[in-house]
Amino acid sequence: MSDTSNMDVFNHEAFSGHEQVVFCQDETTGLKAIIAIHSTALGPAAGGCRMWHYRDNSSALNDALRLSKGMSYKNAMAGLSLGGGKAVIIGDAKTGKSEELFRSFGRFVNGLGGQYITAEDVGISVSDMEVVSQETPHVAGLNSGLAASGDPSPFTARGTFNGIRAAVKHQLGKDSVAGLTVAVQGLGHVGWHLCKELHTAGARLIVADINEDAVRHAVKEFGAKAVSCDEILFAEADVVAPCALGAILNETSIPKLKTTIIAGAANNQLEKDTDGMLLRDHKILYAPDYVINAGGIINVAAEIDGKYDRKWVDQKVAAIYDVLLDIFKRADREQDATSTISDLIAQEKIAQASQAGRSGKTERSGAKKDIVA
Ligand code: NAD
Repeated sequence: MSDTSNMDVFNHEAFSGHEQVVFCQDETTGLKAIIAIHSTALGPAAGGCRMWHYRDNSSALNDALRLSKGMSYKNAMAGLSLGGGKAVIIGDAKTGKSEELFRSFGRFVNGLGGQYITAEDVGISVSDMEVVSQETPHVAGLNSGLAASGDPSPFTARGTFNGIRAAVKHQLGKDSVAGLTVAVQGLGHVGWHLCKELHTAGARLIVADINEDAVRHAVKEFGAKAVSCDEILFAEADVVAPCALGAILNETSIPKLKTTIIAGAANNQLEKDTDGMLLRDHKILYAPDYVINAGGIINVAAEIDGKYDRKWVDQKVAAIYDVLLDIFKRADREQDATSTISDLIAQEKIAQASQAGRSGKTERSGAKKDIVA
């Protein structure tokens, strides 16, 4: 199929009832961007902006459609009054950036009147977003300003820790991770904070990272056992926590896993949707990635509301435990994959809010209002 035929948006394979897809072009600045708004049923569509040198326009559209739907599900499951959206700027993040380009993007975001709230994502830095914010107030994840929420990683790590506790409760019947072995793949922003939480709670750690300094540091700081990057996923551990790469759970890796729990922060861990059921068939409990790693977006949501409230953030991040337990129990009842059940619950929440919105029962602005559902 040619690139042109793939641009038939309504019939695109990743189109999923999206409310609005905006194609932005500014010949003066060279901006070419797509803003996909999947749903605003729960509130303004929030999701980062990615800058990437796409193979073709269709790949950019595919990314925008797929990621914006993912944001709808993630925000819904985190109990936020936010819908899902995503923007992609088509271009090389190393050579294609300019102040004019980001100001132009900011004007397009502003033109949507707050229906889409942008933030940094792959290829975009906080300083790029500072430029965008000169043209629109609909930007989150900034370093300065009254509501600037700072680095989201510690919150993502805390949420992941809570999710691991939920998985341990459901699968092993234990209330604590003390004495259990957790294998952490990736010692970056999230993985490192997660190791700290697990170590403090008395877990034994197995770690791997391509960054040897990070590994040495973890061995020294947490008494962790280091293994190679090829071994970490298949370690003999009570829990494996992927905190590095996507698509690591697939037909090849799943049969070789020695753990019974996969619960980590990495995005898009399943290579294919069907891998969720494959994990279930192998009696492995999987904590759906976009549910367990929502701590960061919860923290950003507090910023979007204008008055950063740490207590509210802590409560929402703690609730990840209960949200996951509900998913695990329903998956058992319905004999289905936890990833499928999570998608279903997210769809139910969005449909309910949509219906309530149509009948005038909800007020939709502000990330912090509790959602109907
Ligand atoms: P990061 O880039 O800081 O850390 C990733 C780490 O993984 C790095 O230390 C890197 O060296 C290591 N790594 C790369 N390839 C590896 C391999 N083959 N084996 C082992 N380690 C390897 O990223 P991060 O912010 O810590 O995010 C980690 C994951 O969590 C990503 O998938 C990210 O999308 C997801 N996530 C992060 C946040 C957040 O708040 N930062 C929120 C939601 C989801």
